[in-house]
Amino acid sequence: MQRLDLKVGFSCNCKCDFCVQGDKRLKYKDKKTEELKLLIEQNYNRGFKEIVFTGGECTIRKDLPELVKYASKLGYEIIQIQTNGRMLYYFDLCKSLVESGATEFSPSIHGSYAKMHDSLTSAPGSFEQVTQGIKNLKFLGQRVMTNTVITKQNYKDLPNLAKLLVSLDVDQFQFAFIHILGSADKNKSLMVPKKSDIMPYVKEALDIGIKANKRVMTEAIPYCFMKNYEPYVAEEIIPVTRVEDATWAIENFTKFRLNEGKIKGEKCKECKYYPRCEGPWKEYPEIFGWDEFIPIKK
Ligand code: SF4
Repeated sequence: MQRLDLKVGFSCNCKCDFCVQGDKRLKYKDKKTEELKLLIEQNYNRGFKEIVFTGGECTIRKDLPELVKYASKLGYEIIQIQTNGRMLYYFDLCKSLVESGATEFSPSIHGSYAKMHDSLTSAPGSFEQVTQGIKNLKFLGQRVMTNTVITKQNYKDLPNLAKLLVSLDVDQFQFAFIHILGSADKNKSLMVPKKSDIMPYVKEALDIGIKANKRVMTEAIPYCFMKNYEPYVAEEIIPVTRVEDATWAIENFTKFRLNEGKIKGEKCKECKYYPRCEGPWKEYPEIFGWDEFIPIKK
C-alpha cells in the first residue's frame, strides 16, 4: 500500500541534537488547518489509504484530532501519529486521537533512562512524558511502534533500551542510524558513531526484542553490517511513500533515497546485496570512508 507522509509544519517542543528537520523550523510556517485538509483530501483522491501525521511535532497542534477525524471520515485505513511522544503524557489527548480515528502511534525514545533521553532531546522531563505516553496508549489498546536514533551518545544503551521497550509492551521498535542532515550535520563530530562500533549493541538489542516476540527493525544500516539479521533491514518493507514537505512534495521517497539520499561504493558492485541494498546515507562515507563496507560474496 502507498503511504502519505504529511508534514504539518516544523514547530516542535523538543530540540533534538540529531534532528534532520531542525533547519526548517525557522524557514517555514506551519501549515494552516484548511491547507492540511486540502492535502489530506487531494491525496486520498490520488488513491492513498495510509497517512502519517508528522513534522515537526504534530501533537502540539490543537487541530490534530480534527485533522485525524477528517482523514478517518474520508476513508484512510491506516492513520499513524509520528511524534516525539511528549504530549502523549496527557491521557485525554491520547483518548481524543484514538476516538478521532488514529490507528497507530510512532513515538521516539532515545535512551533507557531520563538523563540520556532528555539530554539528546534537550527537553527536561521528556523521558517521563514519552514513557507515560506509551503506557497510556497501551492502556487504550493501541499499536505502538517506537523509533530510536542511534548516536555516539546512546549506542551502548540500546540493549537496556530494548529491555525497557519490551517491559512497556510496545509492538515494534526500530533503531535508525543518525542521518547527518539539519541539526545532526551541525553536531556531527559529537554525534555520529562508526557503524562497526555500534553493531554488537544493535544486535544484542535486536535479540532482546526477537526473544520477546516483538517486531524489530533497523534503518540506514546496510546488509554488510547485518549478517544473520538481514530480515530486520527496514528498507525491505518501507512502503512507497509520498512526502508532503514544507512547500513541495516528494512523489516517491524510495526513489529519492536511492537517487539523492544514499550511495553505494565502488566495491558494492561485487556484493550479492547490490541490487536490493540502498547503501548508507551519502554523508556517512564522506566522514568514515568505505573500509567498513565489506561486500558479501555472491
Ligand atoms: S552493497 Fe555495499 S553497502 Fe550494501 S551490503 Fe553490499 S557492501 Fe554493504
